[in-house]
Amino acid sequence: MIPAVLPTYNRAPLTFERGEGSWLVAEDGRRYLDLGAGIAVNALGHANPALTKALTDQAHKVWHLSNLYRIPEQERLAEMLVDKTFADTVFFTNSGTEAAELAVKMARKYWYEAGQPDRTRILTFEGAFHGRSSAAIAAAGSEKMTKGFGPLLPGFTQLKWGDHEALEKAIREADVGAVMVEPIQGEGGIRPMPDVCLKGLRDLCDETGVLLILDEVQCGMGRTGKLFAHEWAGVTPDIMMVAKGIGGGFPLGAVLATEAAAAGMTLGTHGSTYGGNPLACAVGAAVMEVVADEGFLAEVRRKAGLFRQGLEGLVAAHPDVFEGVRGLGLILGLRCKVAPADLVKAGYAQGILTVPAADNVVRLLPPLNIADEDIAEALRRLDAAATAVSPAP
Ligand SMILES: *Cc1c(COP(=O)(O)O)cnc(C)c1O
Repeated sequence: MIPAVLPTYNRAPLTFERGEGSWLVAEDGRRYLDLGAGIAVNALGHANPALTKALTDQAHKVWHLSNLYRIPEQERLAEMLVDKTFADTVFFTNSGTEAAELAVKMARKYWYEAGQPDRTRILTFEGAFHGRSSAAIAAAGSEKMTKGFGPLLPGFTQLKWGDHEALEKAIREADVGAVMVEPIQGEGGIRPMPDVCLKGLRDLCDETGVLLILDEVQCGMGRTGKLFAHEWAGVTPDIMMVAKGIGGGFPLGAVLATEAAAAGMTLGTHGSTYGGNPLACAVGAAVMEVVADEGFLAEVRRKAGLFRQGLEGLVAAHPDVFEGVRGLGLILGLRCKVAPADLVKAGYAQGILTVPAADNVVRLLPPLNIADEDIAEALRRLDAAATAVSPAP
């Protein structure tokens, strides 16, 4: 018999009752150090007092307002984002997938309004993940996500990650309107796009007029030690998708755009019932208050350095288990010689939560405010998990 919950998830047999900062407490009282953070969602840890206060204060005022009316919390969060980024304007969604949907629509509408309605093609990359909607799976294009769900939304071409020649050629084709890319592929195995490549891509977009859409759903919101990952390369996108960390655990996403890129999205062209809901935006503003602060970001970079150094030591100590460390800031990956799922499972036995990714990688995405002593504890537990899965006698 089919379970009451549609069985699309491969779930670990763990049930958590509550969270405290970087820790989750299971029903049986066991404590787990959470280096998954809901896959980069719980950016400020579990049960963060400032976020709980923002949520409950708002809950006592008003939970939901239709976008038929002005929503002050939404306007405030939009202004905070505009103030701290390249963007001139923001649309709020409830998830990363919905942000991807709008990014696609916005790019196509831009070219339609610009009098070049044939520039509908969007270049994406192998190993990408942009969500699970029909547009998002067509964008990523992998067989794993698309098989059986055809006919797929047309107008996406996947390029090989790191194949500059293919990109240079494809981007000049007459029907190309945008390039969509994660500055650091998350699901794809914590694969960063080198700064020079992102710069080169920006130059190509400038030369051709093609819009640059960055998917910072996983790598944004302070995760790399800058508010957004593209800041490291010193370039800006035309359109950017944000979600995961921005709500700190409350469902919230956003599309940020320049005024020029957003030119086609006029009155009535897009909407959402819940998008920009007062509860979500009150929490989002509380997250931004913390994460957009330069002192906080400096701390993320310091903690990341500490963690990375320990991970390099871990890799050196277990050459039969690990191949290396990848990533930037607190979006890190351990490239494994063993099956990533085995290491993740061994972690459960040691009371540490990690997340598998493609390309033989185990992802480490701790809360951005993880305590130094919890980083040290994480390294001890990862070491024990690595010992447990080591093929050596
Ligand atoms: C998680 C993720 C998405 C999809 O976000 P949802 O909130 O699950 O819809 C899109 N892009 C990237 C890079 C992601 O990591």
